[in-house]
Amino acid sequence: MTFASRRPTIANAPRPWLTRLKGECAYPVGGEGMATRSCCNPCGAGAYCPAHAAAMRGPAIPSATDYEREIMRFLEQGR
Ligand SMILES: [Zn+2]
Repeated sequence: MTFASRRPTIANAPRPWLTRLKGECAYPVGGEGMATRSCCNPCGAGAYCPAHAAAMRGPAIPSATDYEREIMRFLEQGR
């Protein structure tokens, strides 16, 4: 499955996950199963390069109360 995207890709030279070396980003960028390709950008001691580490964390949530308020606002707009 492929998705058209106007965003520039983060992965400079993705390779099969199984050929990834120590210090290369593990973030999956394509393929399936044994053919899954990882980002492989330098990531130092971490599992992911800085851009993919940020993607894994997701947006910051200031507090549970703010989060609940945003969810309720979203649900109420859907009616
Ligand atoms: Zn990466």
